[in-house]
Amino acid sequence: MIELEGLSKRFGTTTAVDHLSCQIRPGVVTGFLGPNGAGKSTTMRMMLDLDNPTSGTVRVYGKHYRELSEPLRHVGALLDAKAMHGGRSAYNNLLCLAQSNRIPRRRVDEVLDLVGLTAVAKKKSKGFSLGMSQRLGIASALLGDPEILMFDEPVNGLDPEGILWIRNLMKGLAAEGRTIFVSSHLMSEMALTADHLVVIGQGKLLADLPMADFIQQNSRSYVRLRTPQQERLKDVLHDAGINAVSVPATGTLEIDGASAEQLGELAAQHQIVLHELSPQRASLEEAFMRMTADSVEYHAHAPGMAADGPARPTDAPAWGAGFQATPKAGE
Ligand code: ADP
Repeated sequence: MIELEGLSKRFGTTTAVDHLSCQIRPGVVTGFLGPNGAGKSTTMRMMLDLDNPTSGTVRVYGKHYRELSEPLRHVGALLDAKAMHGGRSAYNNLLCLAQSNRIPRRRVDEVLDLVGLTAVAKKKSKGFSLGMSQRLGIASALLGDPEILMFDEPVNGLDPEGILWIRNLMKGLAAEGRTIFVSSHLMSEMALTADHLVVIGQGKLLADLPMADFIQQNSRSYVRLRTPQQERLKDVLHDAGINAVSVPATGTLEIDGASAEQLGELAAQHQIVLHELSPQRASLEEAFMRMTADSVEYHAHAPGMAADGPARPTDAPAWGAGFQATPKAGE
């Protein structure tokens, strides 16, 4: 169990974390979701006593992290995959950590095997790919066999096989009764991994709910329609009491509350030509984007255009392209 109470962190004029209160429970994977810059890493750093809160508290099993006698045996974390000593082999990196935490040497072999790095254990970690570094970071988190594990964006740099592996690893660890807290800026990834969701934007708590509830609340279905007679069709729909939303970016109409069959028949009755008539289900990614839209640091104007403001290396791929083009419900 991890408990956050009114946790806040300011860096100068930037409020990175803003009165965050929530509990992270054992036995489930809790996804910590938010756009880049939302305050996820800062929150995790405060959980591990790497940053001091400006106000509020964070407790792991009722204690402040620094009060834990052998922290690695209680809390394991992967924050920065490249934080390892590059001049040391994977094995020696882990051995140093083990020795300074009174963890037996055989555990080093066990975790190397667990993350699939046994074959490269004697290689210097500076030559590792990001995916291999992630695995080494995960091995170090697992070293003390802790009850609480935190992973900051663990799938970054992993190939599809690696992503599947870490997903199953986290689920397995949760099934053993451990507390698993994993951050991501990708809703799609969380939907496949997390049982519970904590969503933040600009440091503030936006949602704290079971994944199943989030999916149920946000799986909006609608019909997408394309016609060269859009205004006429809108009038017909309006007369039938059906509300249609124009999406200028795609030149389509989106319609809630009527089936594709109804709409097709209505168009036929009025001899309106249709170029597209397709039932759609809004993605969870869209729901997440709507939830956090006000708190995204930098918006892209259109696919392929530069983001506003100073570019950050991790900004563009997930949030940039197409963000503004995504239709919002009710627009
Ligand atoms: P996330 O992990 O969700 O991407 P971060 O916790 O890294 O977000 O950052 C939250 C906000 O705090 C951002 O605006 C970031 O620029 C700022 N920030 C993080 N660390 C520092 C720091 N050491 N000094 C100044 N600003 C920081």
